[in-house]
Amino acid sequence: MSILYNFSAGPSTLPLPVLEKASRELIDFEGCGISLIEMSHRGKIYDKIHNETINLAREILEIPENFHIIFIQGGATLQFGMIPLSFLNKGMTADYIVTGSWSKKAFNDGKAVGITNIAWDGEGCNYNKIPSQGEIQLTKNAAYVHLCSNETIGGIQWQSFPETDGVPLIIDMSSEIMSRPLPWEKIGMAYAGTQKNLAPAGMSLIIINKSLAQKARTDLPSYLRYDLHIDKNSLYNTPPTFVIWMTNLTLNWIKSIGGLSMIEKLRDEKAKLIYDIIDQSNGFYINSIEKKSRSKMNIIWRLSEEKLEKKFLEGVEQAGLDGLKGHRSVGGFRASIYNAMPVEGVKTLSDFMKKFMDKNG
Ligand code: PMP
Repeated sequence: MSILYNFSAGPSTLPLPVLEKASRELIDFEGCGISLIEMSHRGKIYDKIHNETINLAREILEIPENFHIIFIQGGATLQFGMIPLSFLNKGMTADYIVTGSWSKKAFNDGKAVGITNIAWDGEGCNYNKIPSQGEIQLTKNAAYVHLCSNETIGGIQWQSFPETDGVPLIIDMSSEIMSRPLPWEKIGMAYAGTQKNLAPAGMSLIIINKSLAQKARTDLPSYLRYDLHIDKNSLYNTPPTFVIWMTNLTLNWIKSIGGLSMIEKLRDEKAKLIYDIIDQSNGFYINSIEKKSRSKMNIIWRLSEEKLEKKFLEGVEQAGLDGLKGHRSVGGFRASIYNAMPVEGVKTLSDFMKKFMDKNG
């Protein structure tokens, strides 16, 4: 068997021990004689996995008791709609900080529901930086402020979060969840699709402050109601049991290697390997993001000529490095170095980049 290093942005690489355990247990879960994914979600065996997953998320991310943790199907895109439907009441304004494609998509869904304000728009600087506090124009008493902490396509990331003057801060953390500790005192809600740092696609992990949750509208179709998901402990309807099980395995893996402090250390080490090559390349590799706004999860670069980009792509594929082609909207290359990407995978990529430059630069 030859395994490629998978740099895909999502669905993306999962920890090998997680895939191995899942494949061992898929048919006969812990000697029960049937698969976990064939079992009732109301039974004792599944219930244990379900609650353990919630508890592990709380433990690893140090989520305080004044936050609910829920699972909702539909990915982060469903949250783009559920957030304004639940919190953007008539007469209120929601603030959106637009730093790239994903925060723009969230804004567009907010706009479809109610009154929205773009508190900062990165369009003028080609989305190459995160705004400073002084550049953000917040609405007084807004329903919420929304931002995307890591722009998966644009390759930029918030290193710390803005002050919002008591207005709940809602953060799309799809492409960086579980990669660093979070300042819960600043956060109203954090949400993330599972298919990058947690599990296969199919669900979002949602962490919501209890006082914000209380404000969620209840006159919505049932699946769109945060209060129902909370009251029923994410078992209002049939949950995506496979995705939750895989999330459980990934969280156990994070814990086994040393928790968030180890994940953060490895993240920095991996990001440095690639950014150092880019910075020392004398313009052979180009990353146009302001240095302090660079993403440590999705690293983007271009080469000076299109011909070279074609050659680079052929070369990486031969070297067993997969999923490096940049998003179709921006071109170039993107290395998604999520938690499950081993340091050796990133080393293989940085060695390839160095050799390629030496040959073609
Ligand atoms: N937000 C971010 C930051 C993303 O990267 C993505 C998916 N790549 C989404 C939202 C949308 O997630 P989904 O496809 O799960 O709805």
